[in-house]
Amino acid sequence: MTTLFISDLHIDASHPLITQRFLGFLRGEAADADALYILGDLFESWVGDDDPDSDQQRVIEALRALSTGGVACFIMHGNRDFLIGARFCAATGAHLLPDPVILTLYGRQVLVMHGDALCTDDRSYQRLRATVRDPGWQQRFLALSVAQRRALAEAARAGSQAHMAGLEYTIVDANQTSVEIALRESGMHCLLHGHTHRPGVHSFQVDGRACTRIVLGDWYEHGSVLRWRAAGYELGTLDSPTS
Ligand code: MN
Repeated sequence: MTTLFISDLHIDASHPLITQRFLGFLRGEAADADALYILGDLFESWVGDDDPDSDQQRVIEALRALSTGGVACFIMHGNRDFLIGARFCAATGAHLLPDPVILTLYGRQVLVMHGDALCTDDRSYQRLRATVRDPGWQQRFLALSVAQRRALAEAARAGSQAHMAGLEYTIVDANQTSVEIALRESGMHCLLHGHTHRPGVHSFQVDGRACTRIVLGDWYEHGSVLRWRAAGYELGTLDSPTS
């Protein structure tokens, strides 16, 4: 049996192929899994659980079918969909995970994050992150109409794209010192995250301990999937299913 990890699908009405890819994945490979973990940015934008967006409703129904079919489903907030809340979880049957969280997978402990908190070289993003994760800010935002929230989210997305375009490649990646601090403070040997859209498995030492950082990729081209079994893990794509 397999536990599946995905992140950074960025589902949005403007990318219908990604929604199709995800719905096919839920009906296919995911339906046979032990559990599905979605490590943030399932949606390109999430302005509140009361948004009647039709693509989002299709995803909610498909996740509910998966969880009622007996597959445990977990979701973590990303920097795009951090307003996913209790109503979404009730509708889908998914359990909201804190970020970070330590999971035990077939006897092995793993530190799991979305990954944006590791991008500490981007200081202006970290300031923004602190603001929008503040409960008071979220309460004020959610009190606006859905239309107002969508307009603000669109402006924020445009601002984010302009900000990212002006940054060097290394600034928007995970900071290695922050990675090492996270592993040191948690006492873990393995860190799993998404967010950077740079899939890979990195090996390095922290205080003389052999450590690994697994990075999930996005779903724009292929659909990045980490398949974890009792025998070990494999980072691949939707097109490379293994048994
Ligand atoms: Mn992200």
